[in-house]
This record gives sequence, structure tokens and C-alpha cells, in this order.
Amino acid sequence: MKILFIASEVAPFSKTGGLGDVAGALPAALAALGHEIKVVTPRYGDVKTGELVSTGHSLHVRFPFGEEGGPILAARISERHEVLFLENEHFFGSRRGLYGDTFGEFGDNHRRFAYLSVGALQAAQRLQFIPDIVHLNDWQTGLAAVALRRGFQASPLSRARSVMTIHNLAYQGQFGKDIMGDLGLPWDLFTSHDGVEFYDTVNFLKSGITFVDAITTVSPTYAREIQTPELGNNLDGLLRARHGRLTGILNGIDAQEWNPAGDPILPARYSAEDLSGKAVCKRELLKRAGLPEGDAPVFGVVTRLAYQKGVDLLLEVMPTALQADVRFVAVGSGEGRYEDGLRALQARFPKQVAVYLGFDREMSHLVEAGADFFLMPSRYEPCGLNQMYSLRYGTVPIVRATGGLVDTVTGGMDGTGILFEAFHPAALLAAMRRALALYADPGRLEGFRLRGMQRDFSWTVSARRYESLFTSLLKE
Ligand code: ADP
Repeated sequence: MKILFIASEVAPFSKTGGLGDVAGALPAALAALGHEIKVVTPRYGDVKTGELVSTGHSLHVRFPFGEEGGPILAARISERHEVLFLENEHFFGSRRGLYGDTFGEFGDNHRRFAYLSVGALQAAQRLQFIPDIVHLNDWQTGLAAVALRRGFQASPLSRARSVMTIHNLAYQGQFGKDIMGDLGLPWDLFTSHDGVEFYDTVNFLKSGITFVDAITTVSPTYAREIQTPELGNNLDGLLRARHGRLTGILNGIDAQEWNPAGDPILPARYSAEDLSGKAVCKRELLKRAGLPEGDAPVFGVVTRLAYQKGVDLLLEVMPTALQADVRFVAVGSGEGRYEDGLRALQARFPKQVAVYLGFDREMSHLVEAGADFFLMPSRYEPCGLNQMYSLRYGTVPIVRATGGLVDTVTGGMDGTGILFEAFHPAALLAAMRRALALYADPGRLEGFRLRGMQRDFSWTVSARRYESLFTSLLKE
């Protein structure tokens, strides 16, 4: 089938989070299954021009207050997989940052992503690529679902079936209703039941969810959770109403980058057949972290330092947990309050704690390989990647039972990791206590490691799920 995939970031060209990874990897996996796929994304200022070629086509998107346009560039990834870049100096080329800068979100994001949404459909038309499926991702592409039904009725594009994947429901693209005029959206769309309105604002994600044929999110558990008031971010009612159209499909991981048997960053490689290299990685990790060598268990963390990730809970329990003979290595970047907290923890326990602030790819691999346990006490987690990397690297994940963490980590005596329910210090401490008991029983610990390493989190598995969803939509 032919798939038009629209995303505001696509690795390796642009990336701020999991969405970029998915937009890089899922289309590649779908192409490998034989489908023809074009990914459309903005050409931000720092996308390297060298790799891009002109398609010979350009866009003209009309807004009430002037027209915007620009060339369509392309990068061919494989025979059936191409990435199209919408170039526009004003909206994308001249900006530092994808969605905002140090002063906050850009004030014209509604226009920038309306341009992406409508421009992507127009680009498909210009290139005479008539998709069977239009696959949208997150709020930045929500208006494409509206445009497909309301702006392209006369085009063969309107026959396409549409899918919206929610990568994180917390980000919705909500704007004051004055943007209706700014974007030239007809006011009959400003309704809450079947339109773009949301508590007297315009909500791009809600618009997408309302207008698409199917909704997916990145794990089955998160698909259930977003239908509850606790994690529904005020869209739970709408999602419950559309629950028959909502499914959860787990993300895959880049099995090449995250492979302990071939990882060039590691001082020693290892696999389920021979785990000995893992001990070498642990020694190297402790050395680099400036912590004393020894047999004490190492707890690792690699995370955005954000509220979602439960860094506050971690900071609360660590002084107690560090009373035992354990080491803690954290790699993180993000909010200042958590950076300060981690710095203070390191200052208080210099022989047990090492902290790397900033985005550090090398250390993230070394922690995944060298740690004995990996902590992920998330408040919520749509899918999560690090726990899957941990499993692959034989590092036992300790995770809160939420979202994709539930779907990827198995608890119990014969599981692959340790799960805890309550977002509460006592629950996390109890989980860490279980980890210490497991560590004291090397035979059982090895069982946990090996079972985790045998799990298949490749994109092929996920791509087949999307493929069967698309196939069922085309049969309707
Ligand atoms: P999210 O997308 O919500 O941040 P995920 O677990 O899905 O969480 O993915 C996070 C990705 O970013 C992982 O690949 C992780 O290794 C990486 N990452 C996060 N923070 C850092 C950091 N400070 N240094 C290196 N890698 C990081």
C-alpha cells in the first residue's frame, strides 16, 4: 500500500524525543515489508542540505493574511522510502529549536504546523503520490485530518484512510480561538462535539482525534489509561467515545544501535550466550564515574529530567536507599530543580553517586551496559524506550507499573524486571529492596537478565501491527 506519513520531527534529521525516533524507524520497517512510504516533515535550519535533493516542486499555502510557500526537497532512504522536506525560511529555516527557544514556545506554532499539515497533503498531490493511508503523528499534524475531510474533497487524496498516533497525550497544541481567523478555518468547525473546539480554545490534537478513521498510541496499557480522568488530560471523554477506534501498538527499538553484542561504545561486548563482557562494562562505568570499584550493585538512570519521569520520587528515596552499600549513576538533562537535586545528592554521597548532567549518548550506553539495575519511576509513560534497552543489555529494569512499562517488563519470580504500583517513596524503596535480594542470589539474577535479553523489541514486530491496522481500515 501507499502511505503518507507526516511528522514534525524525523531522526536522524531532527529530533527532540521519541516521536523523532519513531518517524525514522517505523517508515523504514514498513518499507521493508513492501509498502511505499513518503514521510513529510519541515526542513529546520540545521537539517544538512548536502543530503537533500530538489523534487522540482514547490508549495503555495494560502492563509487569509498572505501566502506562504517554498520548495519541496527530498532524501531517498531506500527504494520505497523517501523523506520530503518542506522548506520555508520564515517558518522553519530561520529558527533555532523545533517548537520554541529559550523564550518559550514560538508564537506562530499554529501557523507553522498548519503549514506542515496542509503542505504535506499538497506535496503528495504535487508529486502525484495518492496514498491509501495518511498517518499523522501528534498535535502538529492534527489539522491534516481536518483538511483531508474539509479541504481536499475534490482530490483523490480524500479517499485515503487516516490514522493519528498519539505519542504523548500531554502535548495537545492548544491555541486561543483568534487563530480561527488567522488560519482561515470556517467557524462551523468551532464545535466541541465534532469539530476543533475544546473548552473555548482550538485544540489541534483533539481535532486530529475527531477527524481520523483510527487512533493509535504507543502501548496497549497507555491506550487504556488515556481513557481515564487520571491520565486523559481532559480528552478522556472523547477517547472513551472513540474507544472502538483506538488501539495501542508498542514502539520498537533501534536494534542496531542498542545491541550489546555489537555496541562500539562499550569496552567489551556481550550476549546472552556469554555475559562476561558485562562485568567489564561495569568496571569501566565505575572507573569513568570516579566511584570505587567493588561488588556493590549499581543502579542506573538515563532520563529527561522532567516531572513525567518521577525524578522527584527518586530524589526523595535515594538518601535512604544509599544507606545500603549501593552505587547510583544518573545521566540526565532538563529542568534545573532536578539538576540541582542530583548535584546535591552527589555532593552528599560522593563515594556512591555520580551524576552526568547534559545529553550524553556515550554515557547512556555505558550505563545501560554497566549498571545492574535501571530505575524508571515514571508518573506516566506512553511507551518508554530505556526499559527496553535495559532488557536487551541484561540490566534489570525497576519500573513503575504504568503505560508501556507494564507491557514490556514482566514482574514476579520468573520475570524480566521489578514493577511497583504506587507513586510513593515506600513503594519504590520496597522495589529497590527486592532488587537487593535478587542481587544476592546470582543464579536467579542471571535468569532475569537472560529472559530480558531474549525479548524481541524490533520494529518489524510493531510494523506488522500497523500493517494489519491499515489493512483492516482499507477493507471497511
Ligand atoms: P522520552 O521520549 O519520554 O524522553 P523514552 O524512554 O521514550 O523517553 O526515550 C528517551 C530517549 O532519550 C532514550 O533513547 C534515552 O536513552 C535518551 N535520553 C534521555 N535523556 C538522555 C540524556 N541525558 N543523555 C543521553 N540520552 C538520553
